[in-house]
Amino acid sequence: MNIQQLIDDIAADVRPYLAQAAPADYIPALAGEDPQQFAMAVATLDGQLYATGHSDKRFSIQSISKAFMLARVLAVYGDALWQRVGKEPSGNPFNSLVQLEYEQGVPRNPFINAGALVVTDIALSQIGDSSSALRDFLREESAQPALDFDYVIAASESEHGHRNAALAHFMKSCGNLHNNVDQVLAHYFRACSLRMSVSELARAGLFLANHGTSPVSGVQRLTRSQAKQINAIMLTCGTYDAAGEFAYRVGLPCKSGVGGGILAVLPGKMSIAVWSPGLDARGNSLASLEALDRFTTRSGESVF
Ligand code: GLU
Repeated sequence: MNIQQLIDDIAADVRPYLAQAAPADYIPALAGEDPQQFAMAVATLDGQLYATGHSDKRFSIQSISKAFMLARVLAVYGDALWQRVGKEPSGNPFNSLVQLEYEQGVPRNPFINAGALVVTDIALSQIGDSSSALRDFLREESAQPALDFDYVIAASESEHGHRNAALAHFMKSCGNLHNNVDQVLAHYFRACSLRMSVSELARAGLFLANHGTSPVSGVQRLTRSQAKQINAIMLTCGTYDAAGEFAYRVGLPCKSGVGGGILAVLPGKMSIAVWSPGLDARGNSLASLEALDRFTTRSGESVF
C-alpha cells in the first residue's frame, strides 16, 4: 500500500466537505479557526511518518487529551479507577447532565466530560500537577519539547464552561470528586487546551498501537492488556454519541475532540491523526470522519 498516495488522494476527495461544517463556537476561542483547513498523518510502527495538508499546524486537541490522561491514570492507579467511572457507551452528548443523577455521580465512561473530570481528579490525587504531567508526557511521546497549553483557549473555556462546572459540582456533592472543584476544572481545561499538529499526535499515539510500549520514547507506558483496554474504550466511547457510526464506517478505536481532531489506532500497525475544524451535529470533525472512512475502506485495514 502506498500510504502517501492514499492520504494525498483522500485530502483531495474530502475538500467538498470543508465548506459544509463550522468550528465549535461554545468555546469562543475555537470559533475563529478557518474551516477550510485539513491535515492527516499516519505514523507506522516501523518509524515512518506520512503526512498531508496542514500537517504541521498545531490545533487544540480538546477531548483527545482524555485518551492520554486515561492512559496515565490507568498506568498508575490500575483497575481501582473503575469504581469511580464506568466503561459503557453513554448514547448521550459528551456534556450531558441527565445520566449522572440516575447513576449517583458515577459517570458512564471516562470520555464523556463528567468521566474525564473524575479521571482528572484521580490524576491530581495520584500524580499531582496532572495537566503539566500530561503535557510532559506528550512532549516526550511526540519528541517535541516545545508543545504547550493554549492559555487563551483554557481561559475562554473556563469563562464559558458552566456545564462542566455543573457536572463537577454535582459529582462533588455525590462524593466522587476528592479535590477542590475549581482545581479539577482548571487542570481539565488546561489539558484540553494543549496544541498539537497531526504529525505530533500520530506519533504520540503509537504506544497505543504498539501494545503499550512507545517506539518513540522506548518506554513501556501501559501493559499489553491496559493498551487493549484503552483501545476498546476508544472504540466504544471515543467519538461521543457517534461511536456506532464510527465503528461501522471506520472500524478503528478513535478519540475525537471539538477542536476538530481525531486520533485513530490500528493495533500492531499504525496510529493516524486527522484534523479539520468543521464539526458535524454530534461534535465530530466532518471531514476527518470522511477521511478515516476512506482510509480504512480503501486500504482494507481496520480492526475488523
Ligand atoms: N474542553 C471541551 C469541553 O469540555 C472538550 C470537549 C470535547 O472535545 O469533546 O467541552
